[in-house]
Amino acid sequence: MDQRDPLSPRTRLVHGGTRRSQFEETSEAIFMTSGFVYESAEAAEHAFANDGSRFVYSRFRNPTVAMFEDRLAAYEGYERCFATASGMAAVHGAIMGLLKAGDRIVASRALFGSCLYIVKDIATRFGVETVLVDGTKPEEWEAALAAPTTLVFLESPSNPCLDIVDLEHVTALAHKAGARVVVDNVFATPVMQKPKRHGVDVVVYSATKHIDGQGRCLGGAILCDQEIAALLAPYLRHTGPAMSPFNAWVLLKGLETLDLRVRAQTAAALEVARFLESHPAAARVVYPGLESHPQHALVRRQMAGGSTLICFDVKGSGGPSKQAAFALMNAMEVVTISNNLGDSKSLITHPATTTHQRLTDEERLTLGITPATLRLSVGLEDPADLIADLKRGLDAAAA
Ligand SMILES: *Cc1c(COP(=O)(O)O)cnc(C)c1O
Repeated sequence: MDQRDPLSPRTRLVHGGTRRSQFEETSEAIFMTSGFVYESAEAAEHAFANDGSRFVYSRFRNPTVAMFEDRLAAYEGYERCFATASGMAAVHGAIMGLLKAGDRIVASRALFGSCLYIVKDIATRFGVETVLVDGTKPEEWEAALAAPTTLVFLESPSNPCLDIVDLEHVTALAHKAGARVVVDNVFATPVMQKPKRHGVDVVVYSATKHIDGQGRCLGGAILCDQEIAALLAPYLRHTGPAMSPFNAWVLLKGLETLDLRVRAQTAAALEVARFLESHPAAARVVYPGLESHPQHALVRRQMAGGSTLICFDVKGSGGPSKQAAFALMNAMEVVTISNNLGDSKSLITHPATTTHQRLTDEERLTLGITPATLRLSVGLEDPADLIADLKRGLDAAAA
């Protein structure tokens, strides 16, 4: 089944990309092999001269990895998917594979730390200019994209404070400036936001997050159409960020339940966010699905739901503080402390002392991160248990 078939996206998550071996198995096989054999020298010659329809080496292509790639591409509506060993390998491949010296990147400032490192520290080492903007301000995008640009990179919602970037507006400006747009869609999830519909050229994922969704393995993906795929293919083939067939199999099974999981987690996240808004010890609750989100109208236009992450500040007896945030984390019994996200288990992290520890206080404040800020990734537990657990934590923080 390919992306031209008439099946609904949800069905494609179950059947897309399936390649059965001669044994006609029901569940996809794991082709744990680095190489492939040929019936003759001529067949090997033909395989190398040909269009790539035959598997020749697992750094280039592998049947289990190809099933994962084709299934995700069929769901997203892009012509091609490249699976990578991690989300960062996908971000690195998509950005560096499209750039050369003298090029210019415009990116939003509120990025996952390693993504910021690639655009700000790596790309600039090779004579690429990087301009950072506040992604929520249309006028900053307009000013930055008034000059010819090669690539636009952004995340929406952003980590950890869930700022939203207007994909349609930025994509229109970028295309006028001659740029291709790369979007990190991890926080939104493939279920709740379809960047392709807003004209986005390349989507990147950390499959480690919702696509696996069960905390088992690392993985990443780059999605794009053929024209860009032709530019990226040699870069990826020769630099080797290939995904392991075993991980591809885990992630393939993850795709089968992705739609169900993300919808259930999103519904639970909305319930949890509403509860937080009602509790006096939660000082600021940011969730894209809440009417109180500063960009709620844009969320409505661009996303099918608020997704699975919530950002909030914790107020102790003396006001919002790190101490109150830590008291909450330490009092919780169901929600566990981890910097991962998108898992079936609910996870909580204190960005100021973990994921964003290396930034200065001022840089953190620009991103909306205070000492009292927590990021909660809502899992598949009964939301009533999560709310009871958060109540325990908030009461402990306020005590
Ligand atoms: C986790 C994450 C990444 C990096 O993915 P890895 O699989 O950890 O390499 C990139 N962007 C965002 C938004 C993420 O959450």
